[in-house]
Amino acid sequence: MPANIIDGKEFAIRLRGKISESVSDLKDSHNIIPGLAVVLVGNDPASEIYVRNKGIQTKEADMNSYEFKMSEDTSEEELLSKVEELNNNSDVNGILVQFPVPNHISQQKVIETISPKKDVDGLHPINSGYLNSGLDGLVPCTPMGASILIKSSTDKLEGKNAVIIGRSNLVGKPVAQLLLKEHCTVTICHSRSKDLQDIAASADILVAAVGIPELVKGDWIKPGATVIDVGINRIDAPEKGENKTRLVGDVDFEAASKVAGHITPVPGGVGPMTIACLLLNTLNAFCEQNGFEKPNINI
Ligand code: NAD
Repeated sequence: MPANIIDGKEFAIRLRGKISESVSDLKDSHNIIPGLAVVLVGNDPASEIYVRNKGIQTKEADMNSYEFKMSEDTSEEELLSKVEELNNNSDVNGILVQFPVPNHISQQKVIETISPKKDVDGLHPINSGYLNSGLDGLVPCTPMGASILIKSSTDKLEGKNAVIIGRSNLVGKPVAQLLLKEHCTVTICHSRSKDLQDIAASADILVAAVGIPELVKGDWIKPGATVIDVGINRIDAPEKGENKTRLVGDVDFEAASKVAGHITPVPGGVGPMTIACLLLNTLNAFCEQNGFEKPNINI
């Protein structure tokens, strides 16, 4: 039987709708709304698109959006002082510096300068420490989105074998921690792992977060498994014409969808959940900073 396709776009629309309702309730009861600041350094076209989309969706959720565009030659000191200024601005509840930043700026210093309470990307060591300790904090957005999609497709996660391919701080490790919190038995694979195919074939839940187009083949997948493809890779598409490209994930979708029980497509799977979860983090950060109860948002 072909796999159930997990429609991340649909989940993201529902999540953003619930966030927007909560923002409107908070506005009615307290007359203030959350604010998200996004800082972009340089002119990377892909980053510009991401930042624009974040701004649009923030406003659609009735939150305040503050965008700061800084030139490519911005010094590290200037960027860190912008972050400090935003840390001290009470209208700003969440801060996101769009990565990558130019090479002369230390990404880690930027991460560590953002106040952990406003760290809506969830990358500050304090927040990753909370996650690793099984405590509440701000969780990286893409892993949170992946985890919501996994929960939507699986009745009971407890005791399931979860295999994560990829160990980045941005995706692989936090996904692993989130699934550990759900009592899965978690295996993390990476570029030096041996027998990747055999390990993948043991997974009830397989998450691919690598960045290699269609690395995971259909015969790597346990029949009925939930397959979450985080990868976003642009490849040539000569079938669409000269110089045309298309997006594919880290999983061979066509083959995998014949074996898996549930699978996310690329595009339209995990990707759309990322900004929705960024808005959820901003809402939660706002509530925490103002002493309001966090809304219980389930989709
Ligand atoms: P990364 O480059 O930081 O990490 C890649 C990981 O894959 C590493 O841990 C590495 O050890 C592992 N790896 C590399 N080659 C491997 C191999 N042959 N076998 C097994 N493991 C291997 O990348 P990342 O930031 O974690 O992103 C991974 C993918 O997810 C990328 O395609 C990226 O574009 C995508 N991504 C999507 C979203 C989104 O949906 N919004 C967000 C972040 C990242």
